[in-house]
Amino acid sequence: MDMAIASDETTRICDHCDRAIPSSNIDLHYAHCSRNLEKCKVCGDMVPKKHAEEHFLNTHAPVTCSLCSETMEREILATHKGEICPQRIVTCQFCEFPLPAIDLAEHQEVCGNRTELCHLCNRYIRLRERYNHERRCNGVPEDTVGSSRDVRPAEREQGAQRRQPPEYSRRRLLFTIAVAGVAVLLGSLFFQKTMETGPVI
Ligand SMILES: [Zn+2]
Ligand SMILES: [Zn+2]
Ligand SMILES: [Zn+2]
Ligand SMILES: [Zn+2]
Ligand SMILES: [Zn+2]
Repeated sequence: MDMAIASDETTRICDHCDRAIPSSNIDLHYAHCSRNLEKCKVCGDMVPKKHAEEHFLNTHAPVTCSLCSETMEREILATHKGEICPQRIVTCQFCEFPLPAIDLAEHQEVCGNRTELCHLCNRYIRLRERYNHERRCNGVPEDTVGSSRDVRPAEREQGAQRRQPPEYSRRRLLFTIAVAGVAVLLGSLFFQKTMETGPVI
């Protein structure tokens, strides 16, 4: 007798759970299956009816992030906590202080502006520029090489400004007015003072 034919002939598919059941057991199985089991609407697993709710809660129900209290699909919780959650703890790249991710940008903005002495060239270097600086620092102290190289882009900028874009000339004008105003104010104060103290003959 052939085993394959034998097994084909002796199994039937249960209408309730879609599994192959030995023909001899199918009636008993179906009675038990349809009374006690139900198909999970989310994952399709057959779960005991009395544990269906538990199964849903433990396997499929949305979960709450313990850090930021946001509710989300269970599958993404680990990724959320590790890479996305605004309250996950990260460290400042400059001082390595641990802090919530949401505060990082603001902290690093301030932290990276702190300066530290470069012992090679004896200049104070912003922490945010330290990495680049250390790679090109040639150990020459102060202005000589450092500034002539650093100044060049600034000069180019000034050259461009000589053509006087409207914003620049407007600011210049306001500045001139302000200076003139202060001068007039000081002048009049001075004049008053000399009037008061001066001619008491
Ligand atoms: Zn079944
Ligand atoms: Zn399920
Ligand atoms: Zn979170
Ligand atoms: Zn820091
Ligand atoms: Zn240096």
